[in-house]
Amino acid sequence: MSVNQQAHTGPPYGQPQPGYQGYQQPAYGGQSLPGAPQSQYGAYNGPMPGYQQPVPPQGSLRAPPTSGAPPPASGASHPSGHVAYSQFEHGDVQNGIPASAAPMQRPPASQPFLPGSAPTPVSQISTFQQYGPPPASVQQLRNHMAGMTIGCTAASAPPPAGLGYGVGPSSYPPTTGAPRPPAMPGPPLPGQTVAGPPSSQPNHVSSPPPPSTMAGLHPGPPMSGLHGPPPPTHPPQPGYQMQQNGSFGQMRGPQPNYGGAYPGAPNYGSPPGPPPPPKRLDPDSIPSPQLNELPPQQKPRHRIDPDAIPSPIQVIEDDRNNRGSEPFVTGVRGQVPPLVTTNFLVKDQGNASPRYIRCTSYNIPCTSDMAKQSQVPLAAVIKPLATLPPEETLPYLVDHGESGPVRCNRCKAYMCPFMQFIEGGRRFQCCFCSCVTEVPPHYFQHLDHTGKRVDFYDRPELSLGSYEFLATVDYCKNNKFPSPPAFIFMIDVSYNAVKSGLVRLICEELKSLLDYLPREGNMEESAIRVGFVTYNKVLHFYNVKSSLAQPQMMVVSDVADMFVPLLDGFLVNVNESRTVIASLLDQIPEMFADTRETETVFAPVIQAGLEALKAADCAGKLFIFHTSLPIAEAPGKLKNRDDRKLINTDKEKTLFQPQTSFYNNLAKDCVAQGCCVDLFLFPNQYLDVATLGVVPYQTGGSIYKYAYFQLETDQYRFLNDLRKDVQKEVGFDAVMRVRTSTGIRATDFFGAFYMSNTTDVEMAGLDCDKTITVEFKHDDKLSEDSGALLQCALLYTSCAGQRRLRIHNLSLNCCTQLADLYRNCETDTLINYLAKHAYRGVLSSPVKTVRDALINQCAQILACYRKNCASPSSAGQLILPECMKLLPVYLNCVLKSDVLQPGPEVTTDDRAYIRQLVTSMDVAETNVFFYPRLLPLTKADVDSDSLPAAIRNSEERLSKGDIYLLEDGLNIFVWVGVNVQQSLIQNLFGVSSFSQISNALSTLPVLENPFSKKVRSVVDMLQGQRSRYMKLIIVKQEDKLEMLFKHFLVEDKSLSGGASYVDFLCHMHKEIRQLLS
Ligand SMILES: [Zn+2]
Repeated sequence: MSVNQQAHTGPPYGQPQPGYQGYQQPAYGGQSLPGAPQSQYGAYNGPMPGYQQPVPPQGSLRAPPTSGAPPPASGASHPSGHVAYSQFEHGDVQNGIPASAAPMQRPPASQPFLPGSAPTPVSQISTFQQYGPPPASVQQLRNHMAGMTIGCTAASAPPPAGLGYGVGPSSYPPTTGAPRPPAMPGPPLPGQTVAGPPSSQPNHVSSPPPPSTMAGLHPGPPMSGLHGPPPPTHPPQPGYQMQQNGSFGQMRGPQPNYGGAYPGAPNYGSPPGPPPPPKRLDPDSIPSPQLNELPPQQKPRHRIDPDAIPSPIQVIEDDRNNRGSEPFVTGVRGQVPPLVTTNFLVKDQGNASPRYIRCTSYNIPCTSDMAKQSQVPLAAVIKPLATLPPEETLPYLVDHGESGPVRCNRCKAYMCPFMQFIEGGRRFQCCFCSCVTEVPPHYFQHLDHTGKRVDFYDRPELSLGSYEFLATVDYCKNNKFPSPPAFIFMIDVSYNAVKSGLVRLICEELKSLLDYLPREGNMEESAIRVGFVTYNKVLHFYNVKSSLAQPQMMVVSDVADMFVPLLDGFLVNVNESRTVIASLLDQIPEMFADTRETETVFAPVIQAGLEALKAADCAGKLFIFHTSLPIAEAPGKLKNRDDRKLINTDKEKTLFQPQTSFYNNLAKDCVAQGCCVDLFLFPNQYLDVATLGVVPYQTGGSIYKYAYFQLETDQYRFLNDLRKDVQKEVGFDAVMRVRTSTGIRATDFFGAFYMSNTTDVEMAGLDCDKTITVEFKHDDKLSEDSGALLQCALLYTSCAGQRRLRIHNLSLNCCTQLADLYRNCETDTLINYLAKHAYRGVLSSPVKTVRDALINQCAQILACYRKNCASPSSAGQLILPECMKLLPVYLNCVLKSDVLQPGPEVTTDDRAYIRQLVTSMDVAETNVFFYPRLLPLTKADVDSDSLPAAIRNSEERLSKGDIYLLEDGLNIFVWVGVNVQQSLIQNLFGVSSFSQISNALSTLPVLENPFSKKVRSVVDMLQGQRSRYMKLIIVKQEDKLEMLFKHFLVEDKSLSGGASYVDFLCHMHKEIRQLLS
């Protein structure tokens, strides 16, 4: 290799500066800019368009229908003879939805309760106070004792300061010898249950059955009405349990001795209440010799049966059972889709699939006053390039010819199923702004007797919710069709990177990975060109031109004003330069093997990539592999400003803010060029993710972080992430705009992007996993008749360099009754929005303020329901809307998350990383991130493909004799109880005893037995569902790592002070009552 040390003398080449102004084409903008050319809208001479078959990305996952066939299979079955909008009236209407063009209510099948009866009474808290202390649930106590055992042992391995099981109030009197619980005053009422054992999950194999006398306390069989008690049986009758939790109509009977104050809530902003009254246990009902060993602070404190409060597991299970078997057909306006945790197929009949758009509510208030009263945020979580399952059809590509897509003259909305053709088809009225536009002659078609175009089913843009248009040159920067994008790999070769083996690993991997660059449709090879840079304090560019025998290195040591020292030979076609690239990737690890350079630069690396893309006049992606805080003298140089003392102060927000605005400006330049940055971080200490993440974040890129990277344990995860990231579908140089019908408008946006104005979301790159959340506000009244419409248009460059528009349309209902709003909400989406809103809030407000605001908003949402929608009942009842009954538990998880309430082990970088990660998550990802999935592996049926039924995230659900898996989208824990049978341990880990299990394992050993195969297939299945490869962590009960694991048992009180679900529910109830009084 020849090395050409080159002094900086200024850019040798004229670098085209496209100028961002030219990019803001009126063709895309909603309002015509002054002086903007209008011709593309009025051209009448275009060819008669048809739609092209979609070109499936990457290797034809599915075959599109044969040419000329009507797009959706379901479309062909439509009877003709309906007026416009009649796609709402027929077809495969599911779930008993009445066929009607009138605003749809949520289908009865999925909404079993009427407004008056929908409430979900959780408990009658106020009435409990007259009663004496509760008898302890045997099961609860037993579980707490199990917890005690764990906690005590774990304490021998000293937890970090502040950790420990006894975080709660330590003033609990000892339990032993406490008097028996007083009898209920009077006989139990129907619907009451007196502290019976919870209908626990049948996995407590180590627990003996409860004393039979307990059963006598329960007043007979459960009632089927709303007020039946949870079943006292143990084990539960499966059918009954579902009813109990599923409908959640049954109310837990009065909970004796629920004091108004509850313990352990120091983090709500309100002062903690007085210590709770002593828990009195019935010694006879607790046949446990270990009772005396219970430390005082571990006494059971629950006064509400955890099984009597809404269970996420049950809600998920019910939705799967009710809605998983039928396809979700999108023909009906305002239809609430199945939950993200339900597997279902989607048939597009005029509205975008929920895989592309999910809303917080599918029935939105007609007026702004109503919306404000409810406090329910109106938001859509949009994933424009979402990957579809193979059974579903990709959006069709429509070509409207050289005049471009047909659009409304005024608001520029794109042709869609909601446009109304009039005057025999010569004009159409815009469904967004009501403006009437002439139909271009090439697009003219006659209407049938119902007013529908006769080519309705032949045109995706008239009959489908999602489709693509081929963009014309008017939609391109500088009125020029784009070149294919480029990928530039930029590898940190400083001491740490080399020594850890990372550099060698990356180079080895790239040799094969470069053959898997994204391809369009049936193209033989990828159009993407590649380039390579290595760096420490200086940058090394490589000439890998195919004609060279050996790669050439050019060093740029003046990093103050970055330029690219070579133009020809830097970005190359992989196949043409294969041998030179292979040679380079062989040489890089050798060249830097003996480096002593520990310092790195960072901003100049991005600048170099940006300049290279500018010089090549293309968009692209930088893959930067970086290890340390960039302290070398250069633009964007950073200092270590980490300070944990700022936590819980007004200055905490600075930890999330970049330490310099340099990177914001750089990000802006990158977006203008379509230069997306993906950052792979391998830190051994603080490297300021909040600052380094600015450019990836604002360019639509991704950040991956592998702290304390070790080759043996982390390479598999890193390589999987890298492969996925390189191969995934991505659009470049993207602009997204969301248009709405009159009455509402998009006002706020959350995600990884840049905005230079108030409407256009700009992303240098947008991949199939990235989500943008959009909030809407009223600017006028809406009507129940016309509903509300959204049209999301994404202009982007495909991986082959084709300019396209992807369009997603969604129609929502509008209501004048609050009950209709609450009946059509989607709590998972609501939580996605609330989390993103809160996570942005920490940039500007103290974390405590953000937390208080979250709690207050949710209390207002629930109080408004209680006041306006629930049937009159005692103020002591907490009544939750059926669709929002999980709002408290999920909200608590958000409040307890690392960003809003960090434990002592959570670093500043972790928090910044999570904050940015969550901001781009879709609803399925936030769902599992905030409420992880916990699966009892030892209950798995080794003969079936299915996952074992999930259980609730609480330590008391764990049995010492079982093995569990917990996943949150970033980690997979495998928790092994101390009493697990030796044979299971042997089968899963290949060792003969619990003590021999190594928690250094990063993968499960491959063993030839049914249990091992089953568990590994479960792990693989879960890995396949997530956009990132999850880190596998083996946790042995009572082991040091268990502290980390317990952090994910989100229904429990957390070690960092987060409330348990039960306690939080009580707190929410109190807040709601205060609002109502
Ligand atoms: Zn319009």
